[in-house]
Amino acid sequence: MANYYCEYCGTKFRNVNSLTAANCFRHPYGGNKGKHKLYQGSEKDKYTCKHCGQSYRTLISLTAANCYRHPLGGNKGKHAPAL
Ligand SMILES: [Zn+2]
Ligand SMILES: [Zn+2]
Repeated sequence: MANYYCEYCGTKFRNVNSLTAANCFRHPYGGNKGKHKLYQGSEKDKYTCKHCGQSYRTLISLTAANCYRHPLGGNKGKHAPAL
């Protein structure tokens, strides 16, 4: 069975319906200011930030760390996974 991940926080869901129904604690507008967003890439051994190229083993650890090349400014936001 496929797993679905949130692009903002890396939380794993069993279906898209429950993913998009729940608030995301790492939403870019602020914690729980919006819903989880479906990560549309495939499951990988490692995930790369699309802004800075740093790699992480999980989406959870990638999205938990500040990005020094974030579009809003260095460390003004979290890493974001490339597809
Ligand atoms: Zn989320
Ligand atoms: Zn980054």
